[in-house]
Amino acid sequence: MEPDILELVEPFDLSDKVSVLTLLGKARHGADIVLGIESDDETLTAAQRLVEEYGLFLYRNGGRILFSDDADWLRRRVERKMSAGEFFGYPRCCVEGSTRYARGHIDDVGCEYVGYGERYLLDALFALRNHRYPAALDYRLHVPCDVRCIESIAMGKRIKAVLESFDKGIARQWKRRHRGMLERRLENCET
Ligand SMILES: [Zn+2]
Repeated sequence: MEPDILELVEPFDLSDKVSVLTLLGKARHGADIVLGIESDDETLTAAQRLVEEYGLFLYRNGGRILFSDDADWLRRRVERKMSAGEFFGYPRCCVEGSTRYARGHIDDVGCEYVGYGERYLLDALFALRNHRYPAALDYRLHVPCDVRCIESIAMGKRIKAVLESFDKGIARQWKRRHRGMLERRLENCET
């Protein structure tokens, strides 16, 4: 891997770094980043350079930038011919699961656990307490339909491999973020 990828994504926050690195590492075809309130120049410049140097395609929608390594993939999402879940490469079972719940949030990064996510959270806490929480899910980018979802576990493994190939520190931070959040929730339940 070219070492300057990490320099390029440096202005992004952790979840945006992970988002773009999993795309560059071919773990999926769609990614997004969120611009700051004052849509900062540094982030925009980095986004432009990703396009120029790594052949990505970009679509800016207000404070959000969508990226893909496939122009047609991006176009289908922009034209709403593809769901967000499909665009981001989430397993079909999880995308369908999330739409079954009225307030479903499949993309849990930075959002509160409500509806669909809450159900997953309870399952995850139970699994964690019984030492059955699949380690690969610490690397997830979406809320799985089930704590045992085979496709989510496989995706978690791909994300872990890709992140570690770029930077072991980022992989560790990402894992710690999910696991830490779950462990804090578990402690709150038990006390
Ligand atoms: Zn699933």
